[in-house]
Amino acid sequence: MKRLTHLESYVRSVRPEFETMLGDLVETPSVSSDPRRAEDIARTATLAKQCAERLGAQAQIVTTSGYPVLSGGWDVGKQYPTLTIYNHLDVQPAQEPEWKQDPFVFRKEGNQYRGRGTTDDKGPALTALFACKYAVDQGVPLNLRFLWELEEEIGSPNFQDALDQRHVVPRPDSVLVSDTIWVSRQRPAISTGLRGLVAARLSLRTGTTDVHSGLTGGGARNPLAELCAAVHACVDARTGRVKIPGFYDEVLRPTAAEMKQFLSSGFQVSRFKKAYGFRSIRTENCSDLLKRIWAAPTFEVHGLPGGHMGPGVKTVVPPSGEVRVSMRLVPNQHPRKIFSRLKAHLKKHNPDVRVESSGQLEPFRGVTQGPYAQALHQAVQAGFGKSPSLIREGGSIGAVALMERAWKVPILFFGLSLPEHGYHAPNECFDWGQASGGIRTFVEYFSRVADHSAGGDSSLRSSGQALRSE
Ligand SMILES: [Zn+2]
Repeated sequence: MKRLTHLESYVRSVRPEFETMLGDLVETPSVSSDPRRAEDIARTATLAKQCAERLGAQAQIVTTSGYPVLSGGWDVGKQYPTLTIYNHLDVQPAQEPEWKQDPFVFRKEGNQYRGRGTTDDKGPALTALFACKYAVDQGVPLNLRFLWELEEEIGSPNFQDALDQRHVVPRPDSVLVSDTIWVSRQRPAISTGLRGLVAARLSLRTGTTDVHSGLTGGGARNPLAELCAAVHACVDARTGRVKIPGFYDEVLRPTAAEMKQFLSSGFQVSRFKKAYGFRSIRTENCSDLLKRIWAAPTFEVHGLPGGHMGPGVKTVVPPSGEVRVSMRLVPNQHPRKIFSRLKAHLKKHNPDVRVESSGQLEPFRGVTQGPYAQALHQAVQAGFGKSPSLIREGGSIGAVALMERAWKVPILFFGLSLPEHGYHAPNECFDWGQASGGIRTFVEYFSRVADHSAGGDSSLRSSGQALRSE
């Protein structure tokens, strides 16, 4: 392996610049779901471009039909493989009353950095950027690129636009996605899969106006009650078991070895309950719970607007109602197939219920074996001094399936967020421990990947599917 010199002093020396850049990014509220923040998103793109250029990278703001994507990096030679690191720079809204500070004011307290976007995903993006800069300066023979999205938190609706512009977003030989969470600070975690999503709106109209239940009740149909029955036809609300025929047909169940990895991640049922404020959950059994949140599909009800919502009793029978639902899918399930099964099932159950799609995301299975996975495993061990556990991510990252389809190259995950970082929650924070360990890990990973390819491992030049483990 190429000897890396002075990594520790590099890590120490870049800390002030890292903090200044993170502060500037955090204080630009890039909330992608809020149209009033459009200008802040544009400012974020400019700011991020400047950060990259300050470190010697070239960077381009790639326009799409929505918010732009930043693409850039260091091209050191066509003969070398290219590695692209994906992060996003848009953030969740921050209206939770529990915030102890202005979420868009960057605060540094010792090793901690506070503010919306610190851990998701501005801190990890800069961590990777500083690691790239070091690797390039050390002459690691790898073209290191970054791809920073500004619509991740709204499901990546226009990311494909950027991927289609191949002259500015070139196809790499592999991708590293840095937008995932560990289970505990005590043990690094590598995510090996993401759940997908099928969201739908079920609606029913049986009248034109609110009517009095004393005058019409008994004869009138009740759309809200019928929608509740439709939900009941889809899911056993107590166990979570989905009743749509064929729903589980394609599910890949976790292997015994995978379950063992899940259990060694440091996950604790009690901490899970505390972290999310649960009074009770469906199971207290650790392995059952992990299977449910990482490796099994779900059916959830998010909202049931309709009828009388004001104070007191009003005995109306509403003319219409709707219910918003979604299903998380696991690898091997297909969003379109699942949506059509939902539709067919409800048509049989109650043909008057309208079923509309409100968005779909493919589930994803990452690379878990082969040279890239091995390099990442060793890099994490070197960067954090502990071997990582292989877990799954219960959420979805829309861009991942799009990159997979466009490029057919190995995609691996290594995030730096911790449960206590307040991911998608109030009082979000990041810390220097994760950033410095992250820089070391990324540098190690780059150098190992470069090493493999220099050693004649041509499988690291993308041959697509050959490298995918399953
Ligand atoms: Zn994120």
